[in-house]
Formats: sequence, structure tokens, C-alpha cells
Amino acid sequence: MHPASRPWRRIGLFYLTSFQAFGLAEPITRALTDEQYVQPTPIQSKTIPTVLTGRDLIGIAQTGTGKTAAFALPLLHRLSLNPHHLEKKSCRILVLSPTRELSAQILDSFNAYGKYLRVRTTLAIGGVSMGKQVRALMNGVDVLVATPGRLLDLVQNNALRLNHVEALVLDEADRMLDMGFIHDVRKIVAKVPIKRQTLLFSATMPREITELAAQMLRDPETVAVTPQATTVDSVDQRIIHLDRAAKPAVLAELLRSEPIDRALVFTRTKHGADKVVRSLAKAGIAAEAIHGNKSQPQRERVLAAFREGKVRTLIATDIAARGIDVTGISHVFNYDLPNIPESYVHRIGRTARAGADGVAISFCDAEEKPYLRDIEKLIRIAIPSTDRRGTRPAQAPQPKPQWRPEQQQQRNGKPHRRGQPQKPAGRHQPQARATVAHDAGARQAQPPEGIGGVAFLRRKSEPRPNRDFKSVHRAAR
Ligand code: AMP
Repeated sequence: MHPASRPWRRIGLFYLTSFQAFGLAEPITRALTDEQYVQPTPIQSKTIPTVLTGRDLIGIAQTGTGKTAAFALPLLHRLSLNPHHLEKKSCRILVLSPTRELSAQILDSFNAYGKYLRVRTTLAIGGVSMGKQVRALMNGVDVLVATPGRLLDLVQNNALRLNHVEALVLDEADRMLDMGFIHDVRKIVAKVPIKRQTLLFSATMPREITELAAQMLRDPETVAVTPQATTVDSVDQRIIHLDRAAKPAVLAELLRSEPIDRALVFTRTKHGADKVVRSLAKAGIAAEAIHGNKSQPQRERVLAAFREGKVRTLIATDIAARGIDVTGISHVFNYDLPNIPESYVHRIGRTARAGADGVAISFCDAEEKPYLRDIEKLIRIAIPSTDRRGTRPAQAPQPKPQWRPEQQQQRNGKPHRRGQPQKPAGRHQPQARATVAHDAGARQAQPPEGIGGVAFLRRKSEPRPNRDFKSVHRAAR
């Protein structure tokens, strides 16, 4: 996204300050100039002065609000004021994050903001060999960004000691809870010095996180940039009620008809993500999946392709998507509604990042209605909806059906001839029948009743309230 389109640039002096006003070290402000950050975001304005004083802090902020810089900048400044000899196998700042992708992005941010400082940083995440991480820690580092499991492995293997940690950051704490990392986090907290600065960031504050914060932090200041668990204001949210079987075809139709730059499609399961990739491929739409069954290099390759725009549609599970910081995601699709309502907030926060507008379209079949009720209760909004139950998706130009040789042989015992479409299989052939059923929605003949004919309550062209950080800020007060 072009920096000029970021709203906090346009807000002018509303947020009282420029980065210079914080008194950050010159090498840091120079790096910010390179990043073209002109004005601090609301979470940065509220957080940076407190963190600079060394006080503990709870930051309630969604993804895309600029919270990484909100903790990275003042911590780098404190490091720069107090450079000292690094202890072997130790770190001075420890950042814990729930996913590998998010950890990698946090490290990139520290490296970008600290590029004119002499800081040593490293990453400790699972899914890759430990040897390189052990070597990187050998002489000690200033900043270590880690996922909790790998961090504990390193500690248990005597590759790392936590007794020199000066500042501990817990990012996306609510997601740590969802992913079952809370016990690991408690173990880690028990190993870091009592005298330290602790910062905890979370999009939502469920009871367990409030309790954890009470145990971990001393006299923290709490800052929030959005009311708890409300959704990003600049996201245009829509619900489509539909039959489960119609989901593949409606998704394909929307991917064709919506003005999409990059689309992120959420499924509840890994298996579901792969299934959507296959159904889209049958409809002639290229997509890639990212989830926990993919190896780390595979995940990185797919993410890089998505970031560069080589892959336009990414199918993801909640956990895999957690660390995706890709600007320019114009659309989030909830192919399956999440059963944890907070996940909805996280998911749609992937679009409208850094102040951009975004669209979040959620499918809701009969079984998912209770999930929708929970979500609307949490966000305190009735999401505009359309009812497409019993209607047929718009006909899209379909590529010629491609039958795999084994299906062909199963049908008539003859080998498949390339480029020659075959009739669908008869009912008595189980494997072929499964394929037909899976694809049924995509092949129905339809009246031209695509997204153009659908009356969403609020259209994209209509003005939306509370689009900028100014109003988010006001809402928070
Ligand atoms: P985060 O919430 O930390 O994931 O940041 C979201 C995006 O906003 C990232 O791409 C950052 O590079 C960008 N960003 C953070 N702070 C600023 C700022 N003050 N001005 C412009 N862009 C920013």
C-alpha cells in the first residue's frame, strides 16, 4: 500500500506527535524515514512514551494497527541507550509470538527499525533445524523472537539461558491461549528475571489472559485502540446464507465477480483448505493452501508468492493465517464460520490492514447459524446478510472438465484420451460419484444471479462510518 493512503498520515496533528517528538534515537528515526512512516499510529502514540519509561504495559490492539512498532521502537531505543557486552547463550529482549510467520515478521520489523543500530537479532521457531539457532545464540543476542515450544527446547538443550532478559514481550496473547501455549508461556515466565519490563499485546482480553496478565505484569498501564473485540471499522462485512453444497460454486463466483487484489479464504480445517483448493482448480481458479500440515519451506514459499502477487487466492486455517502480514488483502472470505467468535475478529483483521478498506464475506450454512449468533453478540453488530439458500450460483465460464485417467478407466474400461471430455459417471461407480457430488454446485445451470444481483444492505460505494484511526481512537476513549 502506498504510504500516502494510510489514514494516520492524513490525520495531521490529531495524534499530537511525530516520531521525533518521542525522542527516539536518531538511527531509529532515520530507519523510520526509510520505512516512510510519517506519523505514529494511535497504538504507537499511546504505547511508545510508556514503554520508554520502562513501565509494564497491556496493549489491546488488533492486527494491522502498527502494534509491532509500538513495542519494537521504544525497546530498541532502550537498548541503544544501554549497549553492553552480550552474555553467551542469552538475550536481552525476548519476544514470544504464537506462530512462525508472525515471529518472522516481528524479527523483520526489529531488523528494519534497528538497521542503523548495532543490534544482534535472531529467530527461534519450530519446523526448521535447531542447529542454526543454537549457533546464532552462542554469543548472545540483543533481540530474540521465538515461538514458545522451540524456545523451551533451546532452554532444555542448554543452548539458551533466560536469566539476562531485560524485557519480555508477549504478542497476540489471546492466540497463544487458543493454541494451547499458555503452559509453555508460564514456564518461560518462571525462568526470566523478576526484575524486567513486561509488555503484553492481545486483540481480545478473555478471562484467562486477564489472569495471566495479573500474574506476569507489575502495575501495568493499559492502552486500547479499539473497544474490546469489535471489528475493524473499515471492513465491509457481509453474510451469505447458503446451502453447504453451494459453497464451492459461490466462492468461485465471488472470486470472479468481486474486485479482488488479494483474497484470503478461511476454512475451519486443514483438510477443508485442501478441498477448497481442489474445487477452485476444477473451476479454473488457481489457489494455494497454507496450514499446519505444510512444511515450513512450503509455507514460506506460498506466503512469498502471495505477498508478491503471484498467488492471488490463499486458503488458510486460523492458525496458519495468524502471522500473515500482507498488505493489500482486499477480501477475506469465511468459507466456514469460525466456532470461536474471537477468531472472526482476527480473520477479518487480515484485510483493512494499515488503514486500507477491505471486504469480509462470510458463508453461513444451516449448521453455522449458532456461530453467527455468537459472532454478532461479540461484535455487537448485525452483519448485513443475503439469503441464497435454494438459489443457484451464477454460471461462470467453465474450463473443459478434465477427467483423470483412472476415473475414465473406471467408467468404461478404456484408456483416457487427452483433451476429450467425458460424460459424468453413472451412479453405480462410487469414486466417480464422489467427484460429481463434490463438484455439483459448480456445474448447475443458473440464471445470471451473481453478486451483481445480490442486494447487500451496505454497498461498497456507500459511505461507511468510522473509517479512520481518528474514530477508532475516539471510540476507545
Ligand atoms: P502491525 O499491526 O504491527 O502488523 O503493522 C501493520 C502494518 O502497518 C505493517 O505493514 C507496518 O509496516 C505498517 N505500519 C506500522 N506503523 C506504521 C506507521 N506509523 N506508518 C505507516 N505504516 C505503519
